[in-house]
Amino acid sequence: MASVIDRAPLQIAISSAGNSPVLARKLRTLLETLVPSAYGRLAALAGRFRDASKRRYPDPEARRRFWEEVMDGPVAEMVLSGRERDAIDALQGKLDSGTDNKPPAGYVYLVGGGPGNPELLTLRALRVMQSASVVLYDHLVAPAIVDLVRRDAERIYVGKQASNHALPQQDINALMVRLAKEGKRVVRLKGGDPFIFGRGGEEIETLAANGVSFEVVPGITAACGAGAFAGIPLTHRDYAHSCVFVTGHLKDGSIDLDWDALARPMQTVVIYMGVHGLAMLGKQLIAHGLAARTPAALVEKATLPGQRVVAGTLATIADLAASENVRPPALLIVGEVVALRDKLAWYQPGRLEAAPRAENTPNPA
Ligand code: SAH
Repeated sequence: MASVIDRAPLQIAISSAGNSPVLARKLRTLLETLVPSAYGRLAALAGRFRDASKRRYPDPEARRRFWEEVMDGPVAEMVLSGRERDAIDALQGKLDSGTDNKPPAGYVYLVGGGPGNPELLTLRALRVMQSASVVLYDHLVAPAIVDLVRRDAERIYVGKQASNHALPQQDINALMVRLAKEGKRVVRLKGGDPFIFGRGGEEIETLAANGVSFEVVPGITAACGAGAFAGIPLTHRDYAHSCVFVTGHLKDGSIDLDWDALARPMQTVVIYMGVHGLAMLGKQLIAHGLAARTPAALVEKATLPGQRVVAGTLATIADLAASENVRPPALLIVGEVVALRDKLAWYQPGRLEAAPRAENTPNPA
């Protein structure tokens, strides 16, 4: 029995001729991740135009070149990104016009790189990172993730720390438009999900206004990464029926949030960028009705080997953050679900650091 990878009408069969079905299955798993699921639809598109291509290019050599261009070019890319109607139009246009002498159209992928752990990238993110000609990335994108970008791609750090913008937002937007118009495949790599507190919307608005094609690749947002890796389910039938993500960005020393909406029972609140305003956050939530003993946890460097969870209550979390010296990136999770981590915390990084050799280490005490 062969293991089969089904991308109908495409099929890949793997057989070990009975020698090792387990090895054949392992190989199948490997190939499953390498072959995009949309290859089946790409094959179907080719099938649909097969007769037309024979009429247009009776010479088999010319026809092969035509199809190679299709499979390596924008038409295939459109199918992979789900723009099938555009792909059909483009393929028809290419058949009608013979060759396309137009320079290749640039393209921007707005990619969510997730919370930092490279294993949490989506397959789509990895694929587009490996086909990029240029990558623009923020400071929140972990180096291990930037390392996965195609080797010869140009890497541009565009930064963005609260006070230290490496490039102002308008310049980033303008740079993406310029690179795309030069025909580049631009990957705009952002931490977490690009549409969650990531200004992804603003960036693609500029692209749309300038007629640049783009695709958005979602990522695991920090709240989901932190919840999973800290053993805190963000919703739970017994403790939280809703979950709100807010940003605790300071505005004139105060935080502008709808406190009544946040201080609700049976709700989890996740606050991004909350490290500086913790004391005020705790006070406001208590003033608006949450119990002072409501569990609260700060998750620092979520999903990374350096992850740390500092847990307390709404009343104590600000002092704990100071005494434990919690540093960004960190986020705050507030709600009864936080207490579940006593039972559910499973991620214990840092146990396998290379131990310093006794003879050259000073007394650790
Ligand atoms: N678009 C991103 C959020 C950008 S805002 C996303 O979807 O995750 C930046 C804030 O996200 C940080 O200040 C911090 O609160 C949070 N954050 C991002 N990565 C984090 C991580 N690995 N651990 C904890 N918090 C993180």
